[in-house]
This record gives sequence, C-alpha cells and structure tokens, in this order.
Amino acid sequence: MLDTLALDVQPTSASRLAQLDPANMDFGKLFADHMLAVEFTGGEWQPSRIVPYGPLAVSPANSALHYGQAIFEGMKAYRQTNGQVAMFRPLDNWQRFNASAERMAMPTVPQDVFMHGLRELVKLDDAWVPQAIGTALYLRPFMFATDGFLGVRPSETYHFGVITCPVGVYYTKPLRVRFEQKYVRAAPGGAGYAKNAGNYGAAMLPSRIAQQEGYNQLIWTDASAHQFVEESGTMNIIFIIDNKIVTPAISTSILDGITRRSVLQLARDWGLTVEERQVSSLEVLDALAAGRLQEAFGVGTAATIAPIATIGFEGQDHDLPAVADNAFSRRASAALDAIRTGQAPDPHNWMVAVS
Ligand SMILES: *Cc1c(COP(=O)(O)O)cnc(C)c1O
Repeated sequence: MLDTLALDVQPTSASRLAQLDPANMDFGKLFADHMLAVEFTGGEWQPSRIVPYGPLAVSPANSALHYGQAIFEGMKAYRQTNGQVAMFRPLDNWQRFNASAERMAMPTVPQDVFMHGLRELVKLDDAWVPQAIGTALYLRPFMFATDGFLGVRPSETYHFGVITCPVGVYYTKPLRVRFEQKYVRAAPGGAGYAKNAGNYGAAMLPSRIAQQEGYNQLIWTDASAHQFVEESGTMNIIFIIDNKIVTPAISTSILDGITRRSVLQLARDWGLTVEERQVSSLEVLDALAAGRLQEAFGVGTAATIAPIATIGFEGQDHDLPAVADNAFSRRASAALDAIRTGQAPDPHNWMVAVS
C-alpha cells in the first residue's frame, strides 16, 4: 500500500532565484527551482519525489506524443498580507484533474498525492511566490502516458508532475473577440469539458486566424449550428444583460471553470440573478444593439476577469459600453483579490494554506 505522504526531496544545489525579476514576470517563461514527479507503474502510484526543475527523459513512442494522452491543470498560490502562502480552491482542481484523467482513460491521482505534493513543492519554493497584489505562483499539474509502445490503447504507465512559475499582474486592454462560425473547439460527447492537451493544439489555428484579422480571441459557438455561445478562447464567458448575470450552462463541450464558479457564487452572495442556460449569439447582439448588454467578460485562472470591448459577427464589429468603475466585473475582480490576499473573509473556504 502506497504511503501517499512519503516524499523524497532532492533540493537543488543551483538555485535560479536570482533570475527572478518581480517587475518582469512573463507567464510561463521562468520556472521555480523544483518540480514534483510521481510515476504510475505496475498499476499503482510510486512514492512522490521533488527534484530540481529540468528536462524529463521519455520514450519517443509514448502515447502522449502520438495520441494525445495528456492532461493538465492551471491554478495559483497567493502570498497573503500576513506573509503566508495559500492556494485558491486546489481541491476543485484536483477533482477536475481526475475528471479529465477518467475521460482520457488515465489513472486518477489520490487526493494526498496531489495536495501533499503541491503543498511541499510550494513550501520548498516559497521564495518564488511573489508579493505584489495580483501576482501569484502559477501551478501547473500535468500527467502524460509513458509506455514505450505505439499501439493505440491506454498506456499502462504515466508521469504525474507539477511545475510552477511566478506570474505578474495579468493586464490586457479590453478584448476584441469575434464569434467563430467555422471551426469548433468541442462537440457534445467529446472531451471539451476535460483539460486534455489536444483541445488546445486544435484551437491554435482558428485563434491565429482571428488574431490575423485583428481580434485577440474568438468566441466558440456550438458544434452543430454555430448558434449558441460556448466559451471565449480558453476562458468561460459571462454576460450582464438587464442587470442579470447570464452565462452558458456547463455541458460536455464546455470546461467547468473554477473562476466561473467563483464569480457566479459571488454574484449569488450579492443577491444578483444568475442564469446558467443557452445563450445565442443573436441574443447577445440584440441586447448589445438595444443597449441592454451592460458587460461581457472572460473568466479564467490566468486573467481572473478579462473585459470584452468589441464583439465581431459576420465581418462587423459591435462595441460594448466602457467598463464603469462600479461595474460588476471590477467588483468581482477586487473581491477575489481581497479573498486571495486574506484581506477579506473567506466565507466559502476557498483558500487552502500551504504551511
Ligand atoms: C482552464 C479553462 C478555463 C478556465 O478554468 P479556470 O478553472 O477558471 O481556470 C475555461 N475554458 C477552458 C477551455 C479552459 O481550459
């Protein structure tokens, strides 16, 4: 029986911390000194290891490279005002990681392996957790097939790892997005609800085309008629229409975002009406034309909340009103910041201390 709390730590003898410039933390470029590494062999998880960040040796025949048997998560640890470090809703990420694993016929990761591994890793790399409000240590759990076998069947061995990187305040100008009418991110019964690698690779071409047309991102629509809104890029999307919070309901083709869940919870806490249902592109455009669309924004771990300024449809751009200082998206963003830094009470117990 695996001792899920056993952890072999090999500290680095060559810290790269001096390379960290808190004023210049580009997403995903500089990784903290250590990483978690756990192998699944012989039908069970082997003892966890924390080792210096570095390359992995893999079989060139593994099913992750050839058939996309690979999944990941994206989450953050925050420096609180009392100096402590806490992760935002990590158990939600653990559950979603295992839902993704099941969809891809991969083994699930026991809660202790995930949580204890993350805690010990973030504790060891505490100096990499930045201080300034809006910054964080981004945590990237991932798992991929490792069998050296080319047959198309689920691998029997896997690597579960976590790498981390400090990230700065995610600032973008309000986004220009357009409805996607040709390509599809995910279809009912597919794997759109899972964070599996292939979903992202297949979205790169349509996203690049939209960028070449001058948009930052696209709004994915349903796979059959391109009529209903799904997500925006790699974020969920929320609209405020007639003072109501309106967002596409979760389905097998929509990823169940933890930021989305959190923002909807805040809205309900504040007594606002929340509608999770089908939202058509025409409803959005009609509301915009009639001045009833007050806000539209993407929600996800990287940006938390990314306001949308312009929506393109069939070659025409439609501008949203400027985001007011007291807009819901601003209040929700500030409320989440305050919970994450420990400046506000955390009534839903979202923060999990690392120490
Ligand atoms: C990760 C992701 C999101 C956002 O999820 P969060 O848990 O809020 O980070 C939304 N859509 C897609 C496709 C994603 O991969």
